[in-house]
Amino acid sequence: MPDKSFNAFKIAQEQFDKVADYLGLDQATRDLLRNPLREYHFLIPVRMDDGSVKVFQGFRVQHNDARGPAKGGVRFHPQETIDTVKALAMWMTWKCSVVDIPLGGGKGGVVCDPHNLSEREQENLCRGWVRQVAYNIGPYLDVPAPDVMTSGQHMVWMMDEFEKIHNGRFPGVITGKPQGMGGSLGRTEATGYGVVYVLREALSEMGIDIRKTKAAFQGFGNVSRHAVELYSQYGGVPLCVSCWDQEEQKAFTYLKEDGIDLQELLKITNRFGEIDKDEARKLGYEVLPGDAWIEQDVDILVPAALEHQITGENASRISPRVKIVVEGANGPTTPDADLILQERGIFVIPDFLANAGGVTCSYFEQVQCNMNYFWTKDEVLSKLDTKMTEAYLQVSALARERKLYMRDAAYVIAIQRVVEACKWRGWI
Ligand code: NAD
Repeated sequence: MPDKSFNAFKIAQEQFDKVADYLGLDQATRDLLRNPLREYHFLIPVRMDDGSVKVFQGFRVQHNDARGPAKGGVRFHPQETIDTVKALAMWMTWKCSVVDIPLGGGKGGVVCDPHNLSEREQENLCRGWVRQVAYNIGPYLDVPAPDVMTSGQHMVWMMDEFEKIHNGRFPGVITGKPQGMGGSLGRTEATGYGVVYVLREALSEMGIDIRKTKAAFQGFGNVSRHAVELYSQYGGVPLCVSCWDQEEQKAFTYLKEDGIDLQELLKITNRFGEIDKDEARKLGYEVLPGDAWIEQDVDILVPAALEHQITGENASRISPRVKIVVEGANGPTTPDADLILQERGIFVIPDFLANAGGVTCSYFEQVQCNMNYFWTKDEVLSKLDTKMTEAYLQVSALARERKLYMRDAAYVIAIQRVVEACKWRGWI
């Protein structure tokens, strides 16, 4: 359950301020970049299946679009807040910049729990969301995508509503679409695979053989399961994954000493990435408390579920064996936990670099939609690997050269590029 006192936007601003000091940015530049350029708050009335009308709160935030149209997912979450959306929009700006794609940062959300909504109600919610921002988003303005608890189906409903309003076909308005509907091959795998491409590079720089490593994953959704998949293909041992349990309203960790089997776990996982506990036990999994993933005797931790998961309180429980934390989720590590990881010499690959594979592939999706010509999956993944590897090597080289923490090095590169774009445009 998210902690109410936790404010992701404050964290995003603190992280920015630290780098702004380091770069000596002037006041106007700070004022421009530590807040979103635009934010939209709106209500979405939805006719429910029982005939009643329920009103949902929706948001869209465009943090900065100096380098290109805003880009970022739409989250459906019962604890969604505007500050989370603002933080995530800001992180999208840095993410697109750090991997050097010509897009800015945006994010959207709806306060809702899709567990309690039928397909038809979700469709109406998606269409209602688009109606409220139909003139504020678009292929050349702001391009949404799937995120927590939204899928390709939600994106197609959104695209369809946008196309009805604007009377045309605009596949570039949204990414994360299914194949055949303008989607790119490789998009589903992109974020999780991207996490493992940068992990592979980090291990190689440290001289560690990936086949001799073990990793603990938090989450079992899109990001985590594809990270598990590629990490296993590279010969690593995924010791455990954790996920939410809707029935008990808390998370559990699923562990197998010789490594979890992705395919067998997928067979007992629902569409929200929640594993059936009883079935898992029958398959020989140890079912541990939700936070047990963090204290396992592994080399690598991959938080890939939610923000605010590695904190000042639980960071001390991380095993001395852990060498790398690769942040698959957005904002999983709090600033006080960052200090502990830094002191302990744990190498952190920060979220907006590690999980940039999704947005990079979304950019590829737009490029392909514009050409109306689609690449093979191998082509997409190999372009993705090149982009992620280049970005990782630039950040790690800067971190070494200036003796910076990886998160700070990634920020320095990303923020500098956005500042440059704002200067070129004459905004500052
Ligand atoms: P998802 O909805 O597919 O999966 C989320 C997973 O986290 C599920 O398995 C869920 O059961 C689990 N979970 C929820 N609460 C938990 C808890 N308290 N403890 C343990 N597990 C919990 O979401 P996703 O697309 O995999 O995204 C995960 C994270 O990665 C989010 O922070 C998201 O913003 C970020 N991200 C996603 C993408 C993408 O392309 N999907 C791209 C970049 C960043």
